[in-house]
Amino acid sequence: MFNWILKKIIGSKNQREVRRLQPSVRRINEIEAGLNELPDEAMRAKTLEWKDRLAKIEDPAALAAALNEILPEAFAVVKNSARRLCGRQMTVCDQPLAWNMVPFDVQLVGGMILHRGRIAEMATGEGKTLVATLPVYLNALTGRGVHVVTVNDYLAKRDAEWMGQLYTFLGLTVGVIQNDQPPEYRRAQYQCDITYGTNSEFGFDYLRDNGMATSREQQVQRGHYFAIVDEVDSILIDEARTPLIISGPATISTHQYDKFKPLVEQLIRKQAILCNQLASEAKEALEAGRRDEAGRTMFKLKLGQPRNKPLLRLMEDPEVRRAMDKAELEFYKDTDGKAALVALKEELYFSVEERQHDADLTEMGRSYLNPDDPNAFVLPDLLTEFADIENDPALDVAGKTAAKAARQQHCDNQAERIHNITQLLKAYCLYEKDVEYVVEENKVMIVDTFTGRKMPGRRWSDGLHQAVEAKEGVQIDRETQTLATITIQNYFRLYEKLGGMTGTAETEANEFHDIYRLALNVVPTNQAVRRVDENDRIFKTRREKYSAAIEAIKLAHGKGQPVLVGTASVEASELLGRMLKLQKIPHTVLNAKYHMQEAEIVARAGLKGSVTISTNMAGRGTDIKLGEGVSELGGLFVIATERHESRRIDRQLRGRCARQGDPGMSRFYVSFEDDLMRNFGASDRMTKIMETFGLKEGEELEHPWLNKSVETAQKRVEQRNYLMRRRTLEFDDVMNQQREVVYGYRNEVMDSENPRTLIQEVIAEVIPKKVASFLEAGEGEEPDPDGLLQWINSTFPLGLTREKAALDTRSVDENSEYLTKTIRDAYEQKAALENPDALRGLERYIILNAVDRLWQEHLYAMDGLRDAVYLRAFGQKDPLVEYKNDAYAMFVDLMDTIKAEVLNNLFRSTTNLQAFEQLLASLPQSLLRTDPLAAPTRQAAASSPTEMNEPESPKVFELPIKREMPKVGRNDPCPCGSGKKYKSCCGRTA
Ligand code: ADP
Ligand code: MG
Repeated sequence: MFNWILKKIIGSKNQREVRRLQPSVRRINEIEAGLNELPDEAMRAKTLEWKDRLAKIEDPAALAAALNEILPEAFAVVKNSARRLCGRQMTVCDQPLAWNMVPFDVQLVGGMILHRGRIAEMATGEGKTLVATLPVYLNALTGRGVHVVTVNDYLAKRDAEWMGQLYTFLGLTVGVIQNDQPPEYRRAQYQCDITYGTNSEFGFDYLRDNGMATSREQQVQRGHYFAIVDEVDSILIDEARTPLIISGPATISTHQYDKFKPLVEQLIRKQAILCNQLASEAKEALEAGRRDEAGRTMFKLKLGQPRNKPLLRLMEDPEVRRAMDKAELEFYKDTDGKAALVALKEELYFSVEERQHDADLTEMGRSYLNPDDPNAFVLPDLLTEFADIENDPALDVAGKTAAKAARQQHCDNQAERIHNITQLLKAYCLYEKDVEYVVEENKVMIVDTFTGRKMPGRRWSDGLHQAVEAKEGVQIDRETQTLATITIQNYFRLYEKLGGMTGTAETEANEFHDIYRLALNVVPTNQAVRRVDENDRIFKTRREKYSAAIEAIKLAHGKGQPVLVGTASVEASELLGRMLKLQKIPHTVLNAKYHMQEAEIVARAGLKGSVTISTNMAGRGTDIKLGEGVSELGGLFVIATERHESRRIDRQLRGRCARQGDPGMSRFYVSFEDDLMRNFGASDRMTKIMETFGLKEGEELEHPWLNKSVETAQKRVEQRNYLMRRRTLEFDDVMNQQREVVYGYRNEVMDSENPRTLIQEVIAEVIPKKVASFLEAGEGEEPDPDGLLQWINSTFPLGLTREKAALDTRSVDENSEYLTKTIRDAYEQKAALENPDALRGLERYIILNAVDRLWQEHLYAMDGLRDAVYLRAFGQKDPLVEYKNDAYAMFVDLMDTIKAEVLNNLFRSTTNLQAFEQLLASLPQSLLRTDPLAAPTRQAAASSPTEMNEPESPKVFELPIKREMPKVGRNDPCPCGSGKKYKSCCGRTA
């Protein structure tokens, strides 16, 4: 009841909002009618005039107001130009095409919604590609670059070429980003008024620009003003599950997957034997009428091996299944039940939670893996151990610190082992070959379970990928380390204004609002929708379900009605293909390899007699036009063989038919064996309904109530998935703030005309801190002037002796000033010897190099931290809070370390080696000999309290002159700033 009222209110709010745009639509049409007489050049002249005018406005609010003012006329100009283009022949993606579109009124409405920075929900076939041109044109007039984001490269190219006709007619430039373009080419594309591309290309360009480019010239993007995201749900929701990551091989690798693989395999075999036994027990109990016992046994079996074949067969009987569900419910009912569940799991070697995607080793499993040491796979209780160490009278302060460090190390090792085993268990029990991944060319490649598409280059995080590699016996790639990363969410938050369009956004309205601050309007269709959505057909088993679907296809095909079959996986597509072949029904299976081919196949799916099988979202963005005589047969028939986890994807599939007022129908086939039903829908109620109807083999059910049940299950999954995405984002937000600081600083360095001032700033900031840390004695500490001199002399070639520095003659502040000045002077002296043009490049390089190297190390540490905080969650701590606190402390350290590193490299890099050597030779020689006064240790660069407390192993410091240049990769840009690669510039002689 309440829902109904709510819907009514929301529905009418949307109607009100859309209705309020009507006067603007009328206005646009009036203006447009008056444009017919003008020559073509007048259109371009208007573009130029507006561009000139807007270029002068700097204030964002004033600019937005100016755009709103221009809107009716600008939209009219676009509409009128579209009219002028009608009949023009063109080639789009090598296909001939005639322009035949003039925006409908609803398209004008959609365009205004996008311009306002909202999501326009417009059904498939409503012409969203054209809709975008209206706000794109208007906003491109600012000259600040408008991005249009598509789901794949092919669509980016298609839309850029197709809509480009209109833009270029109007005098604007259009670019398109494709996967294989070199940087110079990309930059040119971004310089255009309008740029089409996919979200990952845009995102990766951003990461490369800010995390890797070492000069402005290497950056390709020029800001983030306005983006329109096509198929916005697919990009901002589905794709947002995996962040964009640029990674390289990790410097250290700790995994032991290959070592543990045989052990885990034994364990899995053991469990399989156990589970088959359980299956027989369950069968026996059933035959003897001991239903409750059978239910419990089956539930245990499900925990041990969720995809056990006999189990799946047993579950085909709804009564048996109900017994199992009942047993499960008992366990989750109360604390007693939960205790019993723990005990039940302990009778297995490990337990698998299919729903949570988790696997856990049990006591029995642990002792099987390591019979001698039952604690080999348990985390030590660090807190108690630390307290014991603290209270140990036999240990002095250093001894305590060392003992704690040793225990910490032990704990880390244990955690790593447990982690390896758990990931292997997951790889074996939850990740199926050819479903979640495929093996090709000795590599494990992830398959997007939504689209069935392979995702080359992407890797599961957290060691899972290596675990699967170990399982498949392929080369285990070195752990990769994150070099730069951003979530899709945070990338799109960079834009000042964001608009989105899709056929299906309504079910996710909350998420769009909460995460992207995107409001949503549903735009009515141009023609009334004539699609018939039938009730779901529900079966006991998959087999029955597929047979029924095949029958339906056969029936429709017999009449010549085209059928589009949507499946939830590549596996299901292939199975159906084989079944159709047996029936001798000609068909096409979409094997999502090339987007373009895919688009061509899907485009033909509406022709008479065609049968097309494809995964749910393949071919998205391609229009399915009905062939001749198909309307009379009822239009395109969409059949789905499974309900997807998300209602949105189902709606998307239904929307493939009945576009622009065409007839069409959709029907879903569901079975109790489907994952969705097994995991989320096997409610008592559903089984009860089934029993009331007395369902027999091969029989089907359909009823609106059952649809409701299925949708409730879907809502539950959607909610869970949303929470997971939000979690990812909450964690990334922490990093996002840090990334903004670091990227901001990097850009400042790159832009700086005079990087020397930045270096002087670092000196002025670090030296007083250092001086204070050595000379200002804390409680129970002595000032350490020798330590200070040692640090100075190992960082700068000053050769300061005790006598010469005479630190004891000055106050702490005076010493700061004195040393800062001395170092500055020495640096000025060195700088005077350098080649002045190259010096700026070198100075930038010194800073950027420090930032990048340490930021990447920091990212690596942050990855580790993320795992670590989950372990702390056992101690009742909120992982996110822990993560935030530690991440902050680490970041403060990072900034200090970066500055220290800059100082370290200041005198170790030169553009003029000869002059530099002479300078060094002229400096006091004390630098070059080991000073007997203090042991030549190098103080930890960071001044954080934690690092200061840790015992430092003394390291003999290297003479600075040994490394006259910071390490440069052969393909890196040359530090001299020439813009050439190092190997073909200064590196050639080396
Ligand atoms: P969507 O992205 O909304 O599913 P498309 O942009 O792919 O739809 O367009 C669907 C089809 O409708 C295309 O063939 C396109 O040419 C056609 N179309 C769009 N707008 C118009 C229009 N105003 N007049 C005629 N045809 C149109
Ligand atoms: Mg589209």
